[in-house]
Amino acid sequence: MKCIKCSNKADYKIGTNPFCSQCFLLIIEKRVRKELRKKKLIKKNDKILVLDDDSHKSKNTIILLESILKDLPCSIKIKRTNYFLTQKIKTDCNKIIIPWNLDDECEYFFKCLFNKKNPEFIGHFLFNGKKHIKLLIDVTEKESITFAKIKSIDFKKSNKKSMVNNFLDKISKNHPETKYSLGKCIKTLKNLNVFI
Ligand SMILES: [Zn+2]
Repeated sequence: MKCIKCSNKADYKIGTNPFCSQCFLLIIEKRVRKELRKKKLIKKNDKILVLDDDSHKSKNTIILLESILKDLPCSIKIKRTNYFLTQKIKTDCNKIIIPWNLDDECEYFFKCLFNKKNPEFIGHFLFNGKKHIKLLIDVTEKESITFAKIKSIDFKKSNKKSMVNNFLDKISKNHPETKYSLGKCIKTLKNLNVFI
Protein backbone atom coordinates (compact mmCIF):
# COMPACT_ATOMS: atom_id res chain seq x y z
CA MET A 1 0.00 0.00 0.00
CA LYS A 2 1.39 3.41 -1.03
CA CYS A 3 0.77 6.85 0.47
CA ILE A 4 -1.57 8.79 -1.83
CA LYS A 5 0.43 12.00 -1.24
CA CYS A 6 4.07 10.96 -1.60
CA SER A 7 4.02 7.29 -2.69
CA ASN A 8 6.10 6.15 0.30
CA LYS A 9 4.99 3.04 2.15
CA ALA A 10 1.63 3.72 3.79
CA ASP A 11 0.88 2.27 7.22
CA TYR A 12 -2.11 4.39 8.15
CA LYS A 13 -5.52 5.27 6.81
CA ILE A 14 -7.66 8.38 6.99
CA GLY A 15 -11.11 7.39 5.85
CA THR A 16 -10.27 4.94 3.06
CA ASN A 17 -7.09 6.75 1.92
CA PRO A 18 -3.68 5.30 2.79
CA PHE A 19 -0.93 7.60 4.14
CA CYS A 20 2.66 7.25 5.32
CA SER A 21 3.45 8.36 8.87
CA GLN A 22 4.84 11.79 7.89
CA CYS A 23 1.88 12.69 5.65
CA PHE A 24 -0.49 11.43 8.35
CA LEU A 25 1.06 13.83 10.90
CA LEU A 26 0.95 16.72 8.43
CA ILE A 27 -2.72 16.17 7.60
CA ILE A 28 -3.74 16.16 11.27
CA GLU A 29 -1.70 19.31 11.97
CA LYS A 30 -3.18 21.01 8.90
CA ARG A 31 -6.70 20.19 10.09
CA VAL A 32 -5.99 21.68 13.53
CA ARG A 33 -4.39 24.80 11.98
CA LYS A 34 -7.42 25.28 9.73
CA GLU A 35 -9.87 25.28 12.66
CA LEU A 36 -7.67 27.70 14.66
CA ARG A 37 -7.43 30.06 11.69
CA LYS A 38 -11.07 29.83 10.65
CA LYS A 39 -12.43 30.52 14.12
CA LYS A 40 -9.57 32.90 15.09
CA LEU A 41 -9.19 30.92 18.30
CA ILE A 42 -5.71 32.05 19.32
CA LYS A 43 -4.32 35.57 19.01
CA LYS A 44 -1.10 37.37 19.75
CA ASN A 45 -0.37 37.73 23.49
CA ASP A 46 -2.96 35.13 24.51
CA LYS A 47 -2.30 33.32 27.77
CA ILE A 48 -3.17 29.72 27.10
CA LEU A 49 -3.76 27.02 29.67
CA VAL A 50 -3.61 23.40 28.45
CA LEU A 51 -5.43 20.93 30.67
CA ASP A 52 -3.42 17.73 30.89
CA ASP A 53 -5.30 14.59 31.93
CA ASP A 54 -2.43 12.36 30.75
CA SER A 55 -4.44 11.31 27.69
CA HIS A 56 -3.14 11.25 24.11
CA LYS A 57 -5.43 14.26 23.54
CA SER A 58 -3.58 16.47 26.05
CA LYS A 59 -0.15 15.25 25.00
CA ASN A 60 -0.91 15.81 21.30
CA THR A 61 -2.31 19.27 22.10
CA ILE A 62 0.98 20.31 23.71
CA ILE A 63 3.04 19.00 20.76
CA LEU A 64 0.73 20.60 18.16
CA LEU A 65 0.66 23.96 19.94
CA GLU A 66 4.45 24.10 20.07
CA SER A 67 4.57 23.47 16.34
CA ILE A 68 1.69 25.75 15.32
CA LEU A 69 2.38 28.75 17.59
CA LYS A 70 6.13 28.85 17.26
CA ASP A 71 6.20 32.38 15.77
CA LEU A 72 3.24 33.78 17.67
CA PRO A 73 4.01 35.51 20.99
CA CYS A 74 1.75 33.68 23.48
CA SER A 75 2.33 32.01 26.80
CA ILE A 76 1.45 28.38 27.35
CA LYS A 77 0.89 26.86 30.79
CA ILE A 78 0.03 23.25 31.52
CA LYS A 79 -2.21 22.15 34.38
CA ARG A 80 -2.54 18.54 35.42
CA THR A 81 -6.20 17.65 36.07
CA ASN A 82 -8.75 14.93 35.36
CA TYR A 83 -10.98 17.26 33.43
CA PHE A 84 -14.76 17.09 33.24
CA LEU A 85 -16.98 19.39 31.20
CA THR A 86 -18.53 21.56 33.93
CA GLN A 87 -15.28 21.93 35.84
CA LYS A 88 -14.47 25.53 36.79
CA ILE A 89 -10.77 26.09 36.26
CA LYS A 90 -9.00 28.76 38.29
CA THR A 91 -6.39 30.43 36.15
CA ASP A 92 -4.98 33.81 35.14
CA CYS A 93 -4.93 32.61 31.51
CA ASN A 94 -7.60 33.91 29.12
CA LYS A 95 -7.96 30.71 27.07
CA ILE A 96 -8.23 27.09 28.16
CA ILE A 97 -7.62 24.11 25.89
CA ILE A 98 -9.53 21.07 27.05
CA PRO A 99 -8.73 17.41 26.22
CA TRP A 100 -11.51 16.86 23.70
CA ASN A 101 -11.73 15.34 20.23
CA LEU A 102 -14.32 14.59 17.55
CA ASP A 103 -15.47 11.40 19.30
CA ASP A 104 -16.12 13.39 22.50
CA GLU A 105 -18.04 16.00 20.52
CA CYS A 106 -20.28 13.38 18.84
CA GLU A 107 -20.87 11.63 22.17
CA TYR A 108 -21.75 14.87 23.94
CA PHE A 109 -24.14 15.86 21.15
CA PHE A 110 -26.03 12.55 21.28
CA LYS A 111 -26.14 12.50 25.08
CA CYS A 112 -27.78 15.94 25.06
CA LEU A 113 -30.17 14.81 22.36
CA PHE A 114 -31.19 11.63 24.21
CA ASN A 115 -31.59 13.50 27.50
CA LYS A 116 -33.39 16.46 25.90
CA LYS A 117 -30.75 18.83 27.19
CA ASN A 118 -29.54 21.99 25.53
CA PRO A 119 -25.98 21.23 24.31
CA GLU A 120 -24.54 24.43 25.80
CA PHE A 121 -20.97 23.18 25.61
CA ILE A 122 -21.04 22.25 21.94
CA GLY A 123 -18.08 23.54 19.87
CA HIS A 124 -15.63 25.99 21.47
CA PHE A 125 -17.46 27.65 24.34
CA LEU A 126 -17.34 30.45 26.85
CA PHE A 127 -17.64 29.22 30.44
CA ASN A 128 -16.84 30.85 33.77
CA GLY A 129 -15.59 33.90 31.83
CA LYS A 130 -12.98 31.91 29.89
CA LYS A 131 -12.88 30.78 26.28
CA HIS A 132 -12.63 26.96 26.22
CA ILE A 133 -11.02 25.61 23.05
CA LYS A 134 -11.29 22.09 21.68
CA LEU A 135 -8.08 21.94 19.66
CA LEU A 136 -8.78 18.39 18.42
CA ILE A 137 -12.45 18.94 17.58
CA ASP A 138 -11.85 17.68 13.99
CA VAL A 139 -9.61 14.76 14.98
CA THR A 140 -11.08 11.35 15.82
CA GLU A 141 -10.03 9.28 18.84
CA LYS A 142 -8.38 6.74 16.54
CA GLU A 143 -6.43 9.45 14.67
CA SER A 144 -5.36 11.03 17.96
CA ILE A 145 -4.02 7.68 19.25
CA THR A 146 -2.20 7.07 15.95
CA PHE A 147 -0.70 10.59 16.06
CA ALA A 148 0.64 9.96 19.59
CA LYS A 149 2.04 6.57 18.60
CA ILE A 150 3.88 7.93 15.53
CA LYS A 151 5.32 10.72 17.71
CA SER A 152 6.29 8.10 20.38
CA ILE A 153 4.34 10.01 23.03
CA ASP A 154 3.59 8.28 26.33
CA PHE A 155 -0.03 8.58 27.41
CA LYS A 156 -2.48 6.97 29.81
CA LYS A 157 -4.58 4.41 27.97
CA SER A 158 -8.29 4.28 28.54
CA ASN A 159 -10.64 1.46 27.59
CA LYS A 160 -13.72 3.46 28.46
CA LYS A 161 -16.00 3.75 25.49
CA SER A 162 -19.56 5.00 25.59
CA MET A 163 -22.51 3.25 24.00
CA VAL A 164 -22.74 6.10 21.47
CA ASN A 165 -19.13 5.77 20.39
CA ASN A 166 -19.36 2.00 20.13
CA PHE A 167 -22.32 2.53 17.85
CA LEU A 168 -20.53 5.20 15.76
CA ASP A 169 -17.45 2.98 15.46
CA LYS A 170 -19.65 0.18 14.07
CA ILE A 171 -21.20 2.51 11.47
CA SER A 172 -17.76 3.93 10.61
CA LYS A 173 -16.52 0.47 9.57
CA ASN A 174 -18.79 0.62 6.51
CA HIS A 175 -19.04 4.41 6.31
CA PRO A 176 -15.66 5.87 7.33
CA GLU A 177 -16.88 9.45 6.84
CA THR A 178 -19.59 9.16 9.54
CA LYS A 179 -17.87 11.02 12.40
CA TYR A 180 -16.53 13.80 10.15
CA SER A 181 -19.98 14.34 8.64
CA LEU A 182 -21.55 14.39 12.06
CA GLY A 183 -18.93 16.88 13.29
CA LYS A 184 -19.68 19.16 10.33
CA CYS A 185 -23.40 18.86 10.93
CA ILE A 186 -22.98 19.79 14.62
CA LYS A 187 -20.89 22.86 13.64
CA THR A 188 -23.53 23.96 11.12
CA LEU A 189 -26.27 23.64 13.74
CA LYS A 190 -24.20 25.67 16.20
CA ASN A 191 -23.61 28.39 13.57
CA LEU A 192 -27.34 28.56 12.95
CA ASN A 193 -27.87 29.09 16.70
CA VAL A 194 -30.46 26.31 16.82
CA PHE A 195 -29.25 25.22 20.26
CA ILE A 196 -30.27 28.42 22.03
ZN1 LIG B 1 3.29 10.24 2.39
